[in-house]
Amino acid sequence: VESLNTAFSSDGEWLNVVRDLSFSIGPKETLALVGESGSGKSVTAMSVMRLLDEKQARYSGKIQFGGQDLLSLNARQMQSIRGNRIGMIFQEPMTSLNPVLKIGVQITEVLKRHRGMDDATARAEAVRLLEKVRIPAATSRLNEYPLSFSGGMRQRVVIAIALACNPRLLIADEPTTALDVTIQAQILALIKSLQEEEGMSVLFITHDMGVVAEVADRTLVMHRGEAVEQASTREIFHLPQHAYTRALLSAVP
Ligand code: ATP
Ligand code: MG
Repeated sequence: VESLNTAFSSDGEWLNVVRDLSFSIGPKETLALVGESGSGKSVTAMSVMRLLDEKQARYSGKIQFGGQDLLSLNARQMQSIRGNRIGMIFQEPMTSLNPVLKIGVQITEVLKRHRGMDDATARAEAVRLLEKVRIPAATSRLNEYPLSFSGGMRQRVVIAIALACNPRLLIADEPTTALDVTIQAQILALIKSLQEEEGMSVLFITHDMGVVAEVADRTLVMHRGEAVEQASTREIFHLPQHAYTRALLSAVP
């Protein structure tokens, strides 16, 4: 991502919410995006995925992904990249799940659409994916609706769906914020081990420096839409350069 600016229109004016943001994520690397509420973390992620309503949002800059500039793609090309190459997890699992469809149907639909599988192959792959995210009794759970799962299990299903297209990049926007602490730790450990198994890159958004320490190779600190500091997570913790970063760290128990 090079010099990304994202602006929203309000009363005929364009207000920049993300300003001149640059970062890169290497293969198999986890970059954490941290900052207080309203600092522009989600807008950054939504810009990378081009999920903002483009009548209200305007981008400039470059987002290089797999040799293409995502900002220059048309809607169809972008849809295919999102479906095939980028996995997404949000804070609230039900953002990604349809409450009235059995989870087996939801997973196999993705596999059929994006990986061209037939019914039987997709069903077997769905079981494999649920086992991969450590859901016990995976086969029988395919016939359940999302709301019969606990919050943590539901987030595991979302992760399974995100992995269905073998993404090169996983974007996780506060994926553990809505979960209680023990479940949080399990989901973080799961994301970490899946990253190692799958060799994907991760953009991990959180406001929790404890989570940053747990998951990130490098960290970008955002404040009011701008990057204030970007370094290895070790440096961020041991040699924070910016007063705002030190303030964030002082909140860590
Ligand atoms: P949080 O930690 O609360 O999730 P965040 O860092 O993810 O915060 P963003 O959601 O990226 O913050 O929001 C950054 C700024 O952009 C906020 O001031 C928000 O009000 C504004 N904003 C977000 N979406 C829109 C939109 N669709 N139209 C106009 N302004 C928006
Ligand atoms: Mg957010």
